[in-house]
Amino acid sequence: MKNLNHENLLTVLAGTTLAICIVSTALLALPGAVSERRPPHEKLAGAASLVPDTGTVMTCDITAYCPESCCNTAVISGNGVTRIVDWSGRVASGDFTIQVLTAKGIDVAAVDPAVIPYGSIIEYGGRNYIALDTGSAIRGNRIDILLPDHESTVDFGVRRGQTVTVRASKDSRKSLEAIHRFVEGL
Ligand SMILES: [Zn+2]
Repeated sequence: MKNLNHENLLTVLAGTTLAICIVSTALLALPGAVSERRPPHEKLAGAASLVPDTGTVMTCDITAYCPESCCNTAVISGNGVTRIVDWSGRVASGDFTIQVLTAKGIDVAAVDPAVIPYGSIIEYGGRNYIALDTGSAIRGNRIDILLPDHESTVDFGVRRGQTVTVRASKDSRKSLEAIHRFVEGL
């Protein structure tokens, strides 16, 4: 969307004087404007070297989930009590809401944090997901990616033996702090 706006702006500018074009190009090249266009995973990667530059190739089974209760309800039994817990709209790694994360352009993945630490960047199918969630069925080399609606998750299905590249967070707590700063626009 931001790239589109950029192009629209350049199209408009094409009809104006060269002087205005030069000034506008200089403004677009300001560091703030450039960093604003960087995708979230690149901002995270650049924050104090929280993830390595190169990733580890892994083979994973990949499924998808949506933000609604259909994909976020777990039955938990203990001490003779059975409870239904509804995590819809939230992620397990912190007090982020899915709404805020997606509004910031963050692609969310649920992982087994014992295998892929929270805050890791997972490249799959040309997208970069950030490991921020988990689930009772997400164990081992299994990744659940967040899609916007339930129908999309059904279409996605179960994709076994997929190749992903994981840039594992070196410090999940610091990675999550960096994501908090990004979400809050600091
Ligand atoms: Zn669902």
